[in-house]
Amino acid sequence: MSIPPAPALASVDWTPTRAAGLARLAAFLPAAGGDYARDRNVDRGPSDRANVSCLSPWIRRRLITEEEVIAAVLARHRLQSAEKFIQEVFWRSYWKGWLEMRPGVLTNFDAERQTLRASWAGDAALLRAMEGRTGIACFDAWVRELVDIGWLHNHARMWFASIWIFTLRLPWPLGADFFYKHLVDADPASNTLSWRWVAGLHTAGKHYLARATNIRDHTLGRFDPGGQLAEQALSLRDETPAPVAAALPGGSQVTERRVALLLTEEDLHPESWDLTADVAGCAALESPRVAAATSPAARFSSGALADGLARAGTHFSTGTALLEAGRVTAWAKGLGVTELATGFAPTGLVAWSLDRLQHALAQDGIRLVQLQRGFDRRVWPHARAGFFKLREKIPQLVSPAP
Ligand SMILES: Cc1cc2nc3c(=O)[nH]c(=O)nc-3n(C[C@H](O)[C@H](O)[C@H](O)COP(=O)(O)OP(=O)(O)OC[C@H]3O[C@@H](n4cnc5c(N)ncnc54)[C@H](O)[C@@H]3O)c2cc1C
Repeated sequence: MSIPPAPALASVDWTPTRAAGLARLAAFLPAAGGDYARDRNVDRGPSDRANVSCLSPWIRRRLITEEEVIAAVLARHRLQSAEKFIQEVFWRSYWKGWLEMRPGVLTNFDAERQTLRASWAGDAALLRAMEGRTGIACFDAWVRELVDIGWLHNHARMWFASIWIFTLRLPWPLGADFFYKHLVDADPASNTLSWRWVAGLHTAGKHYLARATNIRDHTLGRFDPGGQLAEQALSLRDETPAPVAAALPGGSQVTERRVALLLTEEDLHPESWDLTADVAGCAALESPRVAAATSPAARFSSGALADGLARAGTHFSTGTALLEAGRVTAWAKGLGVTELATGFAPTGLVAWSLDRLQHALAQDGIRLVQLQRGFDRRVWPHARAGFFKLREKIPQLVSPAP
């Protein structure tokens, strides 16, 4: 695939470390109040990202946590003035909690994308879209930005998904798959459910149609796809709605006095895990994306894991190891532990690989403990229906515990 480079380099330092995430947060804080509420929907292009935080790749992996982002913003602004920004942070938790109640949505999506990958292989229209050769200048530019930088503004993601589905008439699971492969913040819940939302599958009959005037206005005239977009189309229909689980999954607790830690991309801030046991060693589970480590997304993943692991080793004063799943049991046995603690993995690829690992570890008498954060336990129960229900609870959820 040959794609010309993006026209301008991103203005953001995408170093995949907690320190870089905290620096970005500190730099963005002054703009998180009224400025963000006013300007956040404008996509000024990759050379100017000052109106949004660009924190998603760090928050997604919990290199910095939602709680600390919210606390930092509220230390600088009143809730009323930073309300918009804080609501956006809660959108992430909303998608997570919603998916925890309906894990079948992700299983269905995963099966569908595998089938579609095979049945659409070599399709000319699909290739044109993925190579940024559709002739729709904004869409083609976003493809380059996605592939070269691995990040798109939220509004561009919405326009992109809408054009993919309703103008180019390509299957949405292949679009979500394309995003997942390239985004530095790729997240099973936010990505898959946002694509479903654009298609009209999240709220039945409500879909998102990209309009040329909206794109022109919110890209400050950089693009004007007038006459090129399908501005009228029916929403898609969910033919196989997934069942809703009776209860949210809870995490588990450490029972031994000495454990080993296993880091995954779902939670790379072990310093704030609720852990009282001694730590015998720290390992990180290699991400499947890291194997083909040339894209910005794969580079961010491997760098983030390395950063989390180095901090864990220093914080707990232990040795560290980067492991494939197949080597974890032998490593834990070598340390002489019978419990391995990891951050809770919400529905997604990491959770599926931890499920398999849990069975393998159990054969050798080792228990995998998934430590769930109090923040998720408090927020997810409000994500059963629409976002509105969770939004109402935000003032209560961000107030310090009595
Ligand atoms: C089709 C589509 C696919 C998406 N895929 C992903 C994805 O894979 N990973 C991902 O993290 N986000 C995804 N999003 C949500 C959103 O686009 C990004 O989180 C946001 O653009 C990140 O930019 P930011 O950090 O500057 O956000 P800001 O506007 O500065 O918001 C602060 C934080 O709030 C959270 N947030 C903001 N908007 C959303 C949202 N709509 N949904 C969920 N969380 C949000 C993010 O953690 C973000 O870092 C997707 C949206 C769409 C429409």
